[in-house]
Amino acid sequence: MRVLVVEDEKKTASFIRKALQADGFAVDVCDRGDDALAAAAATPFDGIVLDIMLPGRDGLSVLRQLREGKNHTPVLLLSARGEVNERVEGLNAGADDYLPKPFAVAELVARVRALGRRGAESKVPVLRVGDLTLDTILHRAERGGQFFDLTAREFRLLEFLMRSAGRTCGRMSIIEKVWDYDFDPGTNLVDVYIKRLREKIDGGFEPKLLHTVRGAGYVLAAR
Ligand code: CA
Repeated sequence: MRVLVVEDEKKTASFIRKALQADGFAVDVCDRGDDALAAAAATPFDGIVLDIMLPGRDGLSVLRQLREGKNHTPVLLLSARGEVNERVEGLNAGADDYLPKPFAVAELVARVRALGRRGAESKVPVLRVGDLTLDTILHRAERGGQFFDLTAREFRLLEFLMRSAGRTCGRMSIIEKVWDYDFDPGTNLVDVYIKRLREKIDGGFEPKLLHTVRGAGYVLAAR
C-alpha cells in the first residue's frame, strides 16, 4: 500500500512516515497543498493522510479539489483540537475518516489500514479471470455467454477468489472474508461451497479456472 502524507509540521510528518513504514506502507510526504495535488495526480495512492492546517492551500481545499477532479482516493483528515467545524466540513467534502490531534500512532496506523481496505473494496467493479466476468454492481457472473445463478454466499466467495486471482486462498482466509468468522467452524463448509461454485463456473467449460492447491487452499486462475 502506498500512502501520501500531507503535513507541514516536520516532526509530525516524520513520525507518521516512520510509523507507517514500520507497518509496511510505502510513504510519500508533502508539506504543501499544491504539491499534494500534483503528487496525487501523478501517483495512484491507496490512501492520503491530510492535515487540515497547511500553509497556503489548506487540507479542506486540497480535499475538495481532489473530489472535484474525480479522485476518490480514501482520505484521513488530521485536525487540531477544536477544529470541530472543519472536521464536519471535511466529512461533507468527501473525507473518509478524521483523527483529532494529538493521536496515538497505533490508532493512526490502524485507521490508515482500514482506509486502504475501503479503497480496495471500492476499486474495480467488474472483475475478470480468463473468460469469467463478475459484475459486482449488477451482481452478475457470466462465462462464455452463460449467466450463473449464484446465492449471496457463492457470490461473495467468487468475488473474494477473483479479487485474489492467481494467489492461493487458504480455508481460514476464506472463512474470515466470506463468512466473517474469526474462528474455524471445523466443518467442511468451505469445501462444500467450493464444490458448488466449481460446478457452476467450471462445469462444461475449458480451461478450468478454480484449482485446488493440496494442503493449502484454492486458487482461481486462467492457466
Ligand atoms: Ca499542519
